[in-house]
Amino acid sequence: MAYKIPFVNAARNYQLIKNEIDQAYFEVMTKGDLIMRGQLKSFEENLAKFVGTKYAVGLNSGYDALHMSLRAAGIGAGDEVIVPAHTFVASCSAIVNVGATPVLVDVAKDFNIDVDLIEPAITEKTKAIMVVHLSGHMADMTRVMNIAGKHNLVVVEDACQSLGATLNGKGAGSWGLTGCWSFYPFKILGCYGDGGAITTNDPDVALYAQRMRYNGEDRDTGEYHGHGFTCLLDNMQAAFLDIKLRHMPEWIVRRKQIAQMYRDALSDIADLLLPHYDDPRFFDVYQNYTLRSKQGNDFSEHMKSNGVEVLTQFRKPYYKHEGLNLKDTGFPETEALSREVCSLPMNVEITDDEIDYVIKVARSFYEK
Ligand SMILES: *Cc1c(COP(=O)(O)O)cnc(C)c1O
Repeated sequence: MAYKIPFVNAARNYQLIKNEIDQAYFEVMTKGDLIMRGQLKSFEENLAKFVGTKYAVGLNSGYDALHMSLRAAGIGAGDEVIVPAHTFVASCSAIVNVGATPVLVDVAKDFNIDVDLIEPAITEKTKAIMVVHLSGHMADMTRVMNIAGKHNLVVVEDACQSLGATLNGKGAGSWGLTGCWSFYPFKILGCYGDGGAITTNDPDVALYAQRMRYNGEDRDTGEYHGHGFTCLLDNMQAAFLDIKLRHMPEWIVRRKQIAQMYRDALSDIADLLLPHYDDPRFFDVYQNYTLRSKQGNDFSEHMKSNGVEVLTQFRKPYYKHEGLNLKDTGFPETEALSREVCSLPMNVEITDDEIDYVIKVARSFYEK
């Protein structure tokens, strides 16, 4: 079904920056610069600067970034890694795929890991905490880093949904051993296929990722430094991302403006819980505008049947999928929010009139 208001509009987004993108395409194609050329290097430098780290290493996806980070930290069989029960499945799969055991922890009202539940989940086998900054709002890294320091744990930040978010002025992805990024098309910074990166201040981790993304090879000497992977960020995608990264500051302003429009128009509805936290330490970027409706599916179906494409991630928590073989030890907050979540259209290509329409449809559900 074609929605009157799609969740995102990739074709319209392209029109916003068509001249720059087309120029980059012709430059890359004319010179045949496909693998690890200047565009990748430039994007890595600019991404590191944007996040506030010394290094960034371009990879093929957010999943690869998570996987590479755990490998770089030497995490594997026999180790436990703490991960939130409410996140995209890749956060957990990366842990399983290095041979470690994920230990799931419930989330709090802000959709991020409930920091109070981290210490009770730590055992002698715990090696790391995989923190996820969901929907453009950071987890409380001040407290997470304190706990990690006290127990000598590695912190990997799954920052795939929070490029540009900060806590006390310090960027998501600059706190832990690595920050992990996804440039999947519909992320806040999206390319035109798969893409990802890690950011880090650790030169050994950066070097490890630079080699392992290219089958373990040191490109200067030809020496293989380990059994690696094929998970390099394409030079063409890097060229596009470098352009989009320059637009991020203005795009974040626009996202915050849209979030404010939703807030102004919907905050009087008692059955809607809106994603605003009013904690001045946090700078949120609204990768998603995920609200909770007491009416769950009735509300989200009403939006869809009136032409507004909404996402309901995730009605079924990942640990409930049988094929993943995970233990459901009871996560009440994740259960509750899973029934209620509904993400409204949030992107930089949407018009004010379209936002007004989304608001009108949402209000009409409660006014009938
Ligand atoms: C998108 C996403 C990922 C995975 O990114 P891919 O590039 O699709 O592999 C991981 N974690 C979170 C929280 C994400 O939103």
